[in-house]
Amino acid sequence: MNKLFDLHIHSTFSDGFYTPSEIQQLYNKHNILFGISDHLSRYMGITDNEKLIKYIDTLDSLKIKKGIEIDLGYFPEKIERENLKYLDYIIGSIHIVKIDGNSFSLWDDSYYNQEYTISDIKEKYIQFIIKVLRSFEINIWGHPMMIPGFFYNYDTKIDHSIFSISDYERVLSVVKEKDIAIELSSRYNLPPEDMIKVALDLDLKFSIASDAHSPSNYLDLSYAEYIINKFDLKEKNFFNIF
Ligand SMILES: [Zn+2]
Ligand SMILES: [Zn+2]
Repeated sequence: MNKLFDLHIHSTFSDGFYTPSEIQQLYNKHNILFGISDHLSRYMGITDNEKLIKYIDTLDSLKIKKGIEIDLGYFPEKIERENLKYLDYIIGSIHIVKIDGNSFSLWDDSYYNQEYTISDIKEKYIQFIIKVLRSFEINIWGHPMMIPGFFYNYDTKIDHSIFSISDYERVLSVVKEKDIAIELSSRYNLPPEDMIKVALDLDLKFSIASDAHSPSNYLDLSYAEYIINKFDLKEKNFFNIF
C-alpha cells in the first residue's frame, strides 16, 4: 500500500472546521486523495433534502468525492433516500445505541441497569450492532466497535479485551455478507487489532479515516499507517473509489 487516502472528513456542512474548498486546498497540497463525508442526521449537519442537495452540488462543483456519514439505526425521516444515489459512498456509524427500547448517545455515560452484568450489556450492544448493520445499505462502517460511554458504569477498567474473537466473528460475518468495508479510524484508533485479524481472515476490505473535525485532525491518518505496516496491507485490501 503506497498511497494513503482519507474518506472520512467533516466540513462546515456539519461540525467540521474547514469549508470543502479549504479541505481541498489542504489535501491537494499534501497530495492525498480524499472524500468529504458530513453528518446526515436527524439532529445536526445535513438534516433535510434542501441541505443535502446543496451539499451535493457544492462538492460536485469542486469535483470532490461525495460521501456522507449516517447515524446507523436513526436515519432522518425528512430525507428522501432516493437522493442518496447522487453520493459516491455512504459511511454508517453508530452514534446512538438502543438498549431495551431506550436510546443513548454513544458518549452518554449515565445509563446503568443494575440487573445487568457487563457481559449482558455487551451482548445487547452486539445484537444492536448486528441489527443496524443489516438495516441499511452502506459502503463503510465508521469507527467500528467503539465502546459506549455507559459501559464504564458496569466496569470502570473496561477496554476492548471484553470482546472475544467470536464476538468479532459474529459482527464481521454480517459485514462480509453486506459487503461493507471497515474503516481504520485515526480519531479513535479503531478497530482494535484483534478485530483486524478477524477481518483479514474474512478477506474484508478496509477504508481510511481521519474523521477530522478540527484543524489538528485533518490529514491525520496515523492509525491506518500503523495498521498498514503492521499487517502489510496492500491496495487489494482497500475499498477504493478513486
Ligand atoms: Zn461518527
Ligand atoms: Zn465522522
